Amino acid sequence: MRYLITGGAGFIGSHLCEALLDSGHAVYVLDDETTGSRANLSHLFTNRELRFIPGSIADEKILARLVGTVHHVIHLAAAVGVKYILDHPLQSILTNVVGTEKVLQACREFEKPLFLASTSEVYGLQTHAPLRETDYSVIGATSVSRWSYACSKALDEFMALAFHNQGAFPVTIARFFNTVGPRQSPAYGMVMPRLVDQAIRNEAMTVYGDGSQSRTFTHVKDCVHAVMGLLAHPEAAGEVYNIGGTEEVSILELAKRVKTLSESQSEIKLVPYSEVYNRNFEDMPRRVPDISKLEKTIQFHPQYSLDEIIRDVISDRKRRSALN
Ligand code: UDP
Repeated sequence: MRYLITGGAGFIGSHLCEALLDSGHAVYVLDDETTGSRANLSHLFTNRELRFIPGSIADEKILARLVGTVHHVIHLAAAVGVKYILDHPLQSILTNVVGTEKVLQACREFEKPLFLASTSEVYGLQTHAPLRETDYSVIGATSVSRWSYACSKALDEFMALAFHNQGAFPVTIARFFNTVGPRQSPAYGMVMPRLVDQAIRNEAMTVYGDGSQSRTFTHVKDCVHAVMGLLAHPEAAGEVYNIGGTEEVSILELAKRVKTLSESQSEIKLVPYSEVYNRNFEDMPRRVPDISKLEKTIQFHPQYSLDEIIRDVISDRKRRSALN
């Protein structure tokens, strides 16, 4: 099969490219390198089944050319990272809403199946655990810019499901929960590569707020494994799936584990949100996925423990800092 991955030069996209090529598929990557980089794919460029097309999902002509020639579209291109979204609020909304609409229109024109990457952020301020796909989104006020990301991705889901339900083309949606691993950049605010870099350099490790907020991290290889399973499963069309891990951890506990596993001398410093983001910032107190739907559909179970995930990130960040 020939796949188009929008945003395929990003962190998750590059791992997915690898897996698809390893399985004998051909892959076209469309990426404008806003947050992704072709360097993420450089080790794959000798593979003749990979084609990198620099460009944006806002470009309808490129989209038509590419969507018309592939069998399946995987839409990962989106604004990513809390820091990036707060720094570029309008562009993030436009990328996620207008850009996605263009991808959906191209899928409709050429009747191509679509895999849409969404996010656990759509659950917003929900605090109960674990979160099921049918749970409500609890989104904060529009004056708090962060929530525009959840709203824009929720709108993507609504639009995609509407196309699916009209019979235009099949759509499968997955909500990624804090996917981390090798090649993830610390530049857009993600906690794992940031804490690991700080620990390796023996700098203060910055835990925002009181550190009691929790997340459930997913190794990118587990995430990609789940995506591959859903792609191979036509019954997944029309459905929404959580893709996530199983080990909930508070951010303070995460910092302690990173410190121990990297044998760092760093101090762990609590930093008020107001010193990092603007006064209007709101964080999510808790985020734990219910992955039973995914387990039932594709017999998925995450393979990487939290400690294994942290170790992988430590060795990746060490290798990169040695290269620089
Ligand atoms: N965070 C932190 N220190 C950092 C970066 C992030 O304590 O240097 C916190 C952040 O406030 C949030 C959690 O770590 O509570 C996860 O942040 P991330 O941006 O990785 O993911 P998301 O908030 O989207 O789940």
